[in-house]
Amino acid sequence: MRKLLLAGNWKMNKNVAESVELAQTLVEKLKGITDKDILICPTFTALSEVSKVIKGTNIALGAQNMYFEKNGAFTGEISPDMLKSAGCSHVILGHSERRQIFNETDEMVNKKALLALEEGLIPVVCIGETLEQREAGEALGVVETQLRGSLNNIVGDDILKVIVAYEPVWAIGTGKTATPVEAEEVHAYIRKIFSDIFGSKNAEIIRILYGGSVKPDNSAELMGQKDIDGALIGGAALKAEAFEQIIKVAK
Ligand code: PEP
Repeated sequence: MRKLLLAGNWKMNKNVAESVELAQTLVEKLKGITDKDILICPTFTALSEVSKVIKGTNIALGAQNMYFEKNGAFTGEISPDMLKSAGCSHVILGHSERRQIFNETDEMVNKKALLALEEGLIPVVCIGETLEQREAGEALGVVETQLRGSLNNIVGDDILKVIVAYEPVWAIGTGKTATPVEAEEVHAYIRKIFSDIFGSKNAEIIRILYGGSVKPDNSAELMGQKDIDGALIGGAALKAEAFEQIIKVAK
């Protein structure tokens, strides 16, 4: 049985004080939940302080991005070691906003995933099609290409540490959610491709999260799908009550 993972992507929202306040509220609201994994991903500047707030609780800390080099002359970038020293165990990679606004490619996401694994961070690798691609009947093909490209050359047990997040771009921040049937179709396909590349045993173990306007009122149905193992939540993760409800109703 795969344990559900509910992850909050705070994006470029909340300064340090606001992040600490939200984290404190979440610690209170979510304590005692042990049947699901919980992850929050604040901005870089808030990581250290939030890490102090959630230390020893059931909430893990992730970053929203990292660079694919260990150190050096890469002004403005951040390394996996820096994230670990700030308390992170996870890192989101290849979010569609990174792919679309900052031109990240599968090759870059792949380099990042390989380095994250080498450095002991758990990568949450995001993939998903745009509306035009979906309407052109290309959704499954796009997702397959992104999956294969982003997970290239990951060998051995490392693949079991990877978390995949399927996030249809047209459903992110739009209020439009994939129906549970639409989402499950793609999740099942991702697991099949994963099985082709990494074997059926591994495919049964890895977690595939859904992301795209997950809210308290659609969480239960989405999370109830066979191949959906949790959610990556943007907007609703900024509100403690909504995030709490999404987690509590997920089964
Ligand atoms: C996201 O940022 O990954 C996301 C899914 O955002 P939202 O929940 O706001 O659609």
